[in-house]
Amino acid sequence: MALKMEHFAQHDFLTGLPNRMLLTERLSQAIGLANRHRKQVALLFLDLDFFKNINDSLGHAVGDQLLQSVANRLSANVRATDTVCRQGGDEFVILLAEIERPEDAALIAEKLLAAFVAPHLVGGQEIHVTLSIGISVFPDDGNTVDTVMQNADTAMYHAKSDGRNNYQFFRSDMNTRAVRRLLVESSLRRALKQEEFLVHYQPQFELVSGRITGVEALIRWQDPDLGLIPPGPFIPVAEECGLIVPIGRWVLREACRQTQAWLDSGLPAVPVAVNISAVEFRHKEFLAGVSDILRETGLAPGYLELELTESILMHDVESSIAELDALKAMGVKLAVDDFGTGYSSLSYLKKFPIDILKIDQSFVRDIAIDADDATIVSAVIGMGRNLNLRVIAEGVETQDQFAFLRTRQCPEGQGYLFSQPLLADDFGRLLVAGKKPLPK
Ligand code: C2E
Ligand code: MG
Ligand code: MG
Repeated sequence: MALKMEHFAQHDFLTGLPNRMLLTERLSQAIGLANRHRKQVALLFLDLDFFKNINDSLGHAVGDQLLQSVANRLSANVRATDTVCRQGGDEFVILLAEIERPEDAALIAEKLLAAFVAPHLVGGQEIHVTLSIGISVFPDDGNTVDTVMQNADTAMYHAKSDGRNNYQFFRSDMNTRAVRRLLVESSLRRALKQEEFLVHYQPQFELVSGRITGVEALIRWQDPDLGLIPPGPFIPVAEECGLIVPIGRWVLREACRQTQAWLDSGLPAVPVAVNISAVEFRHKEFLAGVSDILRETGLAPGYLELELTESILMHDVESSIAELDALKAMGVKLAVDDFGTGYSSLSYLKKFPIDILKIDQSFVRDIAIDADDATIVSAVIGMGRNLNLRVIAEGVETQDQFAFLRTRQCPEGQGYLFSQPLLADDFGRLLVAGKKPLPK
């Protein structure tokens, strides 16, 4: 029994390969031996190319079988004394315990790439998949377990950016993107744990009256080293590594909590809009998460709006409609963000149970000078009116843009001309009046 438990703890459930824990142990042993025998140790970091596409299009069951087939093929192409390990997801690591020269590792890498020319037979279909491989060698590229691992990973990212289906040796000048990505990822984990995120609130106004109609919650990251960071640089990394799910949940909870706090203190609060990434929207626990948060914070669902981009909705129309219907049934409002930048057809738009269109700021930017943008914006305003949707022009910065929007009877606007995103307390003070005189 104890032996069995130990096996489970040290092996990957899906492929039966050693896991990261066992690999780390073997690597440190190998490093110890190599030191004594004056040999070298190589670590190959492998990542399947475009595995996510395969998984998304053929389903997880096929993805899992493919990973098993990959595991077998890797094991069949190395010596019995080498360790093939599954690192998680579609990442594998191979430890070559005793090599004479780095070139020996290159030969293995070439052999593996060649072995992946043949397709994998999975559930009766042939699937082709290639590898990107990063190689790091002890002691040349690092003399601890951690540095050898990290440098192999870095080299793998370079293999990816060199067009995939190839291998790269680590070089000390390989800092840049991959390393920075890893840094951002680990800092994001810390940020979540240490509550370094905060939310700024940008009001939305009715253009004729200056009345506040809503507010958008925008995440910020107060990094202890770098200061206040806007979402642009870190949201894509969070999406890539899956951290967007807990981060998004934090934003949602904070926005709901704050809005309920304004209501509790007697302020004429307005609905709060929260941006939702594709990864979150497609996450199987998203709906349950929204309803949990509403219950926990006590916020009435009508006070919550979710902003989704066109491309999220258009990605898989049928399942989007089902999910939107479920949110709608909860009483939550739905907005299409960055409208005009995606490719939604109008017939689909009618099928989505949405409440709000947000005209993307790229159109608003040039409305006063570019006839095409002016036409598009006017058309969206008209369409929103016909479909009975709220229409909000985003990124309004100038008097000219504002004047144009008013003449075309755009109902609402958001932008620096009216207000920057504000700290919660500052927005709370604005709420007391419920409106703001807009520049003429
Ligand atoms: P978005 O949803 O389109 O948000 C509007 C962005 O435009 C915000 O940038 C806002 O500060 C900025 N903005 C507002 N008025 C003006 C203006 O007059 N001129 C210009 N040039 N910009 C204006 P921010 O806060 O940097 O956010 C950027 C994007 O990051 C957002 O675009 C949204 O897609 C994403 N984002 C923000 N918060 C979250 C979040 O909590 N979760 C997720 N998943 N994404 C978020
Ligand atoms: Mg938005
Ligand atoms: Mg937007």
